[in-house]
Amino acid sequence: MSAQLRAAVPGQAGALLAELGDKAVVHDLYDEVGALVYHAIAGDDTFEVRELVGSLRSTTGPILELAAGSGRLTLPLLTLGCELVALELAPGMIRLLEQRLRTVPASRSDRCTVVAGDMSDFDLGRTFGAIVLGTTSISLLDAAGRAGLYRCVRRHLAPGGRFLLTAVDVPGFGCSTTEQVLDVDCADGTRLRMHEHWTEGADVRTVTIFPRPLETAEPPITVCTTRIGVFPATQLETELAAAGLLVTTRQALPATASHHHDVLLVAEVAG
Ligand code: SAM
Repeated sequence: MSAQLRAAVPGQAGALLAELGDKAVVHDLYDEVGALVYHAIAGDDTFEVRELVGSLRSTTGPILELAAGSGRLTLPLLTLGCELVALELAPGMIRLLEQRLRTVPASRSDRCTVVAGDMSDFDLGRTFGAIVLGTTSISLLDAAGRAGLYRCVRRHLAPGGRFLLTAVDVPGFGCSTTEQVLDVDCADGTRLRMHEHWTEGADVRTVTIFPRPLETAEPPITVCTTRIGVFPATQLETELAAAGLLVTTRQALPATASHHHDVLLVAEVAG
């Protein structure tokens, strides 16, 4: 697996990996090791939290959060006072989420049910007032996966329910740069360097994360990578409409060093 992941890393990050040779062990960003790295980088990032929580203030719930990860959005969503189901595929992420839920007051964690599942194929046997898919995580799904997601979302939305999702607004992404390098100082003291490689027009970008400084890192050096679809919000709106989910609100999210121009879409079942 490590060799396959390694071979898929392009650009400067790929060259760095080649230089490191056997000293580096490459992980998927969401596997057991990668989940810890993801959590260190993004676990407490407040990006899109205010906008999602604000848009959900009027909901009476229950809320279904898809691809919940280690709970970056789950915990703030629980402050809304609704019952929440958090669905996530990766066991390592689920473990982190469960650990994190144990750190919040029971009045919040008791309202949260964690479910292992695939957002493109799930059946929870109930409906929700709101379904949330943040972090532009829809980009992780291919066309068949997205079709499955839309089917499941429609089936799980209560009458008048809303589907809130964030997507990359591609016109603001990339420009002529094909590899952005960002140094990240994590809250737990970990220092990392993140390479994000995208060739303008390509439908996939690759994120690869190295320890920093690399020169003094002791082997085995953990390197994490993931390939993420680049899926324009406008195309997404067309797909949602074809699946019977009409986008009623489109809100630009603030661009930051580690986020492109992303957009929050709110969709409702058409008709
Ligand atoms: N929402 C969390 C956050 O904001 O930190 C996690 C976002 S992370 C970018 C994407 C998450 O989607 C990962 O935790 C990954 O394991 C999960 N994931 C990937 N494919 C999935 C699928 N088909 N169904 C459910 N979760 C999935």
